[in-house]
Amino acid sequence: DRLVGGAADDEERAVEAALRPTSLDEFIGQDRVRDQLGLVLDAARARGKTADHVLLSGGPGLGKTTLAMIIAGEMGAPLRLTSGPAITHAGDLAAILSSLNEGEVLFLDEIHRLARPAEEMLYMAMEDFRVDVVVGKGPGATAIPLELPPFTLVGATTRAGLLPAPLRDRFGFTAHMDLYEPAELELVLRRSAGLLKVDLRPDGASTVARRSRGTPRIANRLLRRVRDFAEVRGTGVVTGPVASAALEIYEVDELGLDRLDRGVLTALVKLFGGGPVGLSTLAVAVGEEPETVEVVAEPFLVRAGLLARTPRGRIATPAAWHHLGLVPPAPAPV
Ligand code: ADP
Repeated sequence: DRLVGGAADDEERAVEAALRPTSLDEFIGQDRVRDQLGLVLDAARARGKTADHVLLSGGPGLGKTTLAMIIAGEMGAPLRLTSGPAITHAGDLAAILSSLNEGEVLFLDEIHRLARPAEEMLYMAMEDFRVDVVVGKGPGATAIPLELPPFTLVGATTRAGLLPAPLRDRFGFTAHMDLYEPAELELVLRRSAGLLKVDLRPDGASTVARRSRGTPRIANRLLRRVRDFAEVRGTGVVTGPVASAALEIYEVDELGLDRLDRGVLTALVKLFGGGPVGLSTLAVAVGEEPETVEVVAEPFLVRAGLLARTPRGRIATPAAWHHLGLVPPAPAPV
């Protein structure tokens, strides 16, 4: 799988659990989100109430699950984790909601992928702390109203724009999480290196941070690969040159692009003359789902100034041509 891909598998989840910050103070970067969320939680605590529902939007690996855990921790409440795709029937959601304890935090990852009937059930649960459970089938079916204890829903989505407005509006607080700056990722790496007992030198940290596509999960992942390399081929000390040599082996280039990213840029430049080309056409050319290209590859390519989204489609910037060692076409004469 992709070394710089967004998602984590089970094994990685276990390592990540050890690296997760457990309080807002320990959470690095996203200053605005942290300040605002701090206020929301302080206000709820002062009132002795459960916190408002929170929507977190941002790409994979930016810390949404971590923030949900922190919210529960700061509220002294238990946390329940589930996801949109895991709830296939409204009944699944009713079962989860009706088993919540008072004050509990329910984390609903990929909330934009919730099936319609479940989504509608969620409206009432969020607003009135009530669900209608349908018992029986056909003409004899009856809806039994069920009171729910007050709870806090933390929804996570890769793009808030994917959510229907009635759902978005039911969140008291929406936080948009941006890609992290290299300096912030250096702090994430220094913290992780401390926990993992890796001898990470400043130039090693900056080399890894610059290649982590603005994403803490990727920074932590690259750190583990670089540590392997340093232990096997070197003395275990991660310096800049050691990190560069390791990442070259894993085909992560100096901008942090991997094979998929370079594939997207190469297709854009070589097959479509630099664009504009539609997302789905581009995705077919690289053999990926449009959502993968859009959510995993594009945000960073845009941030790095290599790709632009225009109303007519995606275009490669001159920097993309240069990055691939090619000369961009001269602008058309006017
Ligand atoms: P998401 O839910 O958005 O996919 P996670 O919350 O699972 O992302 O974060 C992925 C990994 O990155 C976790 O191991 C977490 O410890 C680390 N991480 C994310 N955000 C931060 C942060 N702001 N500070 C320190 N570590 C972070």
